[in-house]
Amino acid sequence: MSVGRVTVDPVRRAAMSPSRVKDFQQCPLKFRYRTVDRLPEPPSSAALRGTLVHAVLERLYDLPAAGRTEDAAHALLDPQWAALVARDPDLLRLFTSQDDLASWLAQGRALISNYFRMENPRRLEPAARERLVEVEIADGILLRGYIDRVDRAATGAIRLVDYKTGKSPSERFSAEALFQMRFYALMVWRLEGTPPARLQLVYLGDGRTLTLDPHPEDLISFEAELTGLWERIEASAHTGDFPARRSALCPWCSFQPLCPAFGGNVPPVPEEGISALLGVRRPATAGG
Ligand code: SF4
Repeated sequence: MSVGRVTVDPVRRAAMSPSRVKDFQQCPLKFRYRTVDRLPEPPSSAALRGTLVHAVLERLYDLPAAGRTEDAAHALLDPQWAALVARDPDLLRLFTSQDDLASWLAQGRALISNYFRMENPRRLEPAARERLVEVEIADGILLRGYIDRVDRAATGAIRLVDYKTGKSPSERFSAEALFQMRFYALMVWRLEGTPPARLQLVYLGDGRTLTLDPHPEDLISFEAELTGLWERIEASAHTGDFPARRSALCPWCSFQPLCPAFGGNVPPVPEEGISALLGVRRPATAGG
């Protein structure tokens, strides 16, 4: 199959993650800047705290069950922070002073304490942590994502768990929050042949849990929704039209300087980014 001057290679089509798909739903231009142009974005201390807390909760389950105490989890925080800084010393620039850093670490410790009020890790034996799943669904669409925790009951029933360091959404937005879990449920179903029995979002910010027991029909219609979204992404890629869509999320968008909704100019769409998104090869050049 050909698209313009290039040849489609379905095997190399870019994988979609829940966050990239959500980007497109929220604002196609934001999707373009992140996924096609791959523009760098400044790190945020809130996102970094999420990374740190996730790392601690993942490492907690390296310990024998009896040793998974709140104190043991707190003791993991500093070494995990040191490991993050060793990988990227620029992270320290996010903090204005040692006090600022200390208060940020204390917030991380409080989130970990909240975790112990929600679950008892001494009673859990996860089947997987930070599991990378990649699977092809209908129409050769490739999905990819990291699942924080997979629990498997003695009956074989699977529960997918995702930790959130923010607060739980209002009821109006809970279906949207479960989008990511449906995405993972569909991947696990397609990979293992059985849909997960339960999807669980653990909000450490306010100690609430959101659960959904997905029905296969629900996941089938979700798959159709993803197929439709991918078709819209492909259409944007072919036309180069990724419109800006203003929303309440704009204040947190780092692409405002390049956004026409905020007076910015949109640069030309990079051809290589479109090729990578669609899974296409550029034609060989003469002598190439
Ligand atoms: S500022 Fe708003 S409209 Fe502009 S790219 Fe970002 S999310 Fe889209």
